[in-house]
Amino acid sequence: MECVFCKIVQGIMPATRVYEDDLVVAFEDANPAAPIHILIVPRAHYSTLNDIPDDDPLLAHLLTVARRVAEQNGIAQSGYRVLINVNRGGGQVVFHLHVHLVGGRSFGQRVIHAAVGMSIMMAKVANLFRGRS
Ligand code: 5GP
Ligand code: ZN
Repeated sequence: MECVFCKIVQGIMPATRVYEDDLVVAFEDANPAAPIHILIVPRAHYSTLNDIPDDDPLLAHLLTVARRVAEQNGIAQSGYRVLINVNRGGGQVVFHLHVHLVGGRSFGQRVIHAAVGMSIMMAKVANLFRGRS
């Protein structure tokens, strides 16, 4: 089993857990992009958002937990951002579905711009490696 988030879910790898239930585990991101940066991860391994069936209750549960953890961290009213990167072009690096909950400072549009800029850069690098620059 090579998946790092499966290892965290199973307690084989350490992480600072902030919430868990039968379906998901939430823990602090190892390289936080904001004062509060928590990842909400299904216990079951789905590589990307594309891989969960339409009728899986996990889809709604991930959002329910994101706002619950936001509430726990005192940022429900001040504001926070919830995002899912999907596949390489969407900036996904760890291929075990996860929801980012980021907050604790004012973002404006900067995170979106940074994410888009990063995606474009990664696509260009990927094309270079494929010899299609
Ligand atoms: P992605 O780009 O795949 O949406 O985000 C992956 C996130 O996982 C990144 O924000 C990264 O900092 C975080 N991450 C990667 N490896 C680990 C780890 O071993 N432990 C924790 N807590 N976070 C990790
Ligand atoms: Zn996994």
